[in-house]
Amino acid sequence: MIRSFRLRITAWYLAFFSLLFVLFGIFLYGVLSNALESRLDETLSSQASTAASLFQDELVEMQGDVPKAASEAVSEMRLQGSTVAIFDGNHMLAASAPVPHPGFEAIAAQASAASNPEVVLPVPHFGRNGARAAVHRMTAAAAPAGPSYLILAVEPLDSIAASLQVVRRVLFFGLPFLLALAGIGGYWLTTRSLAPLTWMAEQAHKITGSNLETRLSIGNAADELAVLAASFNELLSRLDQSFESMRRFVADASHELRTPISVIRGEADVSLSHDRAAGEYKESLSIILDESRRLSRLVDDLLNLARADAGYVRLQPQDFYFNDLLADCCRSVQALASARNIELEWRCAGDVPFRGDEELLRRLVVNLLDNAIRYTPPGGKVSAILEARGPDVRIRVADTGIGIGADAAPHVFERFYRADKARSRADGGFGLGLAIVKWIAESHNGAVELSSQPDSGSVFTVTLPR
Ligand code: ADP
Repeated sequence: MIRSFRLRITAWYLAFFSLLFVLFGIFLYGVLSNALESRLDETLSSQASTAASLFQDELVEMQGDVPKAASEAVSEMRLQGSTVAIFDGNHMLAASAPVPHPGFEAIAAQASAASNPEVVLPVPHFGRNGARAAVHRMTAAAAPAGPSYLILAVEPLDSIAASLQVVRRVLFFGLPFLLALAGIGGYWLTTRSLAPLTWMAEQAHKITGSNLETRLSIGNAADELAVLAASFNELLSRLDQSFESMRRFVADASHELRTPISVIRGEADVSLSHDRAAGEYKESLSIILDESRRLSRLVDDLLNLARADAGYVRLQPQDFYFNDLLADCCRSVQALASARNIELEWRCAGDVPFRGDEELLRRLVVNLLDNAIRYTPPGGKVSAILEARGPDVRIRVADTGIGIGADAAPHVFERFYRADKARSRADGGFGLGLAIVKWIAESHNGAVELSSQPDSGSVFTVTLPR
C-alpha cells in the first residue's frame, strides 16, 4: 500500500493512462491493418479486371490464339509486388512472374468454385505472411458459350506485415517512454497542486491554545482547498470562542469565590487578633457561617454548570404533577416573600401531569420565584401561573419589580451576568441563577423567554414540551 498521497495519485494516473494508451494502440493497429488490406484488395481487383479487358482485346486481335493472347495481355500489365496469371480451368495459360508460386493452382481451384465472377480471397498458406488474391472470371466475347477463364491478381502480405511491424515496434517501445513522461508530469502536477495543503499543514502546526486567534492564510489556493481552509478557520473560531468563554468562566468563578473567602478570613483574623467577649465570637461565627453557606451554594452551582457543560448530568425523568410542584415551590418561598412584604400568588388550571427531572424543574421554578421576590420592592406582587397548552406546559413567573433594561435583557441568561451588581450581590446572587434556569429548560428541550419593562416588572416564561 502506497502511503504517499502524491505517489498514490500518480500511480492511479499512470494506470489509467497506460490502459488508455494500450486501448488506443489496439484501436490504431486494427484500423491501420484494415485500411492497408482493403487498399490492397482494391488494387488487386482493379489489376484483375484490367488484365481481363486486355485479355479480351488480345483474344480478338490474336483471332483465337488463346495462349498467345494470354501472354500478351499479361506482359502489358505494369505491376509492383503483385503477380497476374490467366487460367483456363486448372491450366495456367500465362503469368506475369517468370516462376509463379505453386499456390496459384490451388487459388484457381478455390476461385473456380466461387459463384461470383469477381472475388477477393485471403490466401493464408502463401509465403511467410499469407497473401490476398483478386479473381476475375470471364468468357471470350467472341465465344460466350466457350470456356471460362480465370484472371488472378495475387500479392503476398509481406509489405503490409512489414509496415504493421514498424507500427507495433513504435507502440511497444513508445509505451514505456510515454509512461515515464506521464509519470514525471503527473508527479510534478500533484506536487504542485498539493503544495498549498502542505503550506496549510505547516501553518496549522503552529496554532496552539495560546494563539487560537490565528487563522490559516488561504492565498490563491484552488477552490477546493480554500473551502478546506475556510472550514478549518471556522473550527478555529468556534474553538477560540469556547476557549474564551471557558477562560472567562474560570476568571469569573475565581473572582466570585474570592469575596466570601476573604470575608471569612477577615472575620477569623479580626476575632483571633485578641481576646473577645463570647457575644463577639458568636457574631463573627455567624458571619462566617453565612459566608460559608454562600460559598457552598456557589460551589454547587458551579459544579452543576460544569457538569452540564461536560455532558455528565443525566436527567432522571419521572412522572409527577406540575401543579403540585409549582404549589410546593411557592410555599417554600412564601416566607421570603412575606418577609419582604410581597404578595405571592399562584394559579394552575387543574392537574398537569408531566414527565421530567423533578429535582431540576423544582430548581428552575425556585430560581425564577427567588429572583422575582428579590428584585421586587416591598408592597409589590409576584405571580406564578401554570398553563397546559396543547403539547406544551408553560410556566409564567411575573413580578411588579424593578424590571430589566433593554441593554441588559439579552445578557441575563449569561453566566455571572448581573444587571444590578450591587443589589444582586447584597442579596446573595452570583449571576448564575438564570444560566441554570436556561440550561434546565433546554435540557428538557424547552426554552425560556423574558419580557420586561424597567420599573414596571418582568415576566419569565418557560415552555416545556410534554
Ligand atoms: P443573580 O444571582 O444575580 O440574581 P441571575 O442569573 O438569577 O443572577 O440573574 C441575572 C441578573 O438578571 C440579575 O443580576 C438581575 O440583575 C437580573 N434579574 C433576574 N431576574 C430579575 C427579575 N425578576 N427582575 C429584575 N431583574 C432580574
